[in-house]
Amino acid sequence: MDRAVTEMPELDLDLLTRLCETPGAPGREERIREVVTAELAPHADEITVDPLGNVAAIRRGGGGPRVMLAAHMDELGFMVTHIDDDGYIRVVPLGGFDPKTKVAQRVIVHGRDDLLGVMGAKPIHIMTPEERKKLPAPDDHYIDVGLPADEVRELVRKGDPVTRERTLARLGHLITCKSLDNRAGLYVMIQAMRHLGDHECEVVAVATTQEEVGLRGARVAAQRIRPDIGLAIDITLANDGPGAKPHEKVTTVGGGAAIKAYDSGVIVPRAIIEHLEQVADQREIPHQVEIMSRGGTDTRELQLAGDGALAGCVSIPTRYVHQVVETCDPADLAASAALVAGFCETAQALVA
Ligand SMILES: [Zn+2]
Repeated sequence: MDRAVTEMPELDLDLLTRLCETPGAPGREERIREVVTAELAPHADEITVDPLGNVAAIRRGGGGPRVMLAAHMDELGFMVTHIDDDGYIRVVPLGGFDPKTKVAQRVIVHGRDDLLGVMGAKPIHIMTPEERKKLPAPDDHYIDVGLPADEVRELVRKGDPVTRERTLARLGHLITCKSLDNRAGLYVMIQAMRHLGDHECEVVAVATTQEEVGLRGARVAAQRIRPDIGLAIDITLANDGPGAKPHEKVTTVGGGAAIKAYDSGVIVPRAIIEHLEQVADQREIPHQVEIMSRGGTDTRELQLAGDGALAGCVSIPTRYVHQVVETCDPADLAASAALVAGFCETAQALVA
């Protein structure tokens, strides 16, 4: 039976902060996986980890279909490729960086210890007029950890991961941090599992790996789990600031949980969109429709798993995506968590 109105989960700022500030470069998600596993375990009958590092929290239902939730736990990062004779570190990017965001940043080099580094580049004073006009090329920047080469080589090896350094902060009514993509999604999934009421479906909440380098974790997780119904949880663009034309907005921060209709990897089945809208309407959860013309999510892998699954996505409107000042609204996180929980409680109707 449907509950009339779901209360919105209160903001758990401590959880969100820990999720955002724990490192997890693609392929090196072990530290964030530990945090997520500890949070999901009390709400699961069983926890599994597969060879790609995806962690699945399985909550058995009453014999209904299998619903797989997927929120990726990797974040944009780098991998160390070279240490030069002056101790400067070169890296290869892991994920879709905006070149403008690869300079003037603090990073953490995860070697034998965590080392603070800065992404150095030539100061504007000594740039040629041509250099001033260009975006920085991959060779224009490097990481400076403030140590001589012999000390760097003792602590850092080729292949070590590097992540961006930024603490979570409140920004008026909003919150800002690096990697709200997709720690906001992980947060929503954990909150949904905490607040999940009676459910007939088996619910498998998966924190996936290597999304930022091509949905690799989700592909394996979905093939192993073979869901009947899938729901990804990820951030989406809120291009709602100055200069954005109304048709370019995608979503609005503070406008509620975003129900995906389309991204570059998926066309969401009408039945999923309507079911999410129905749950949101019945439970008075603020919501909006999302159409993201470029950029993909784990939704695609859920939809294409096995013989195919009915799959959609609940997205969190986020400003300044893939920059270190990603910004979203705690009210949208609460709405998204309530919607995901409500979806899991009622999803058996989709395959009846
Ligand atoms: Zn994402």
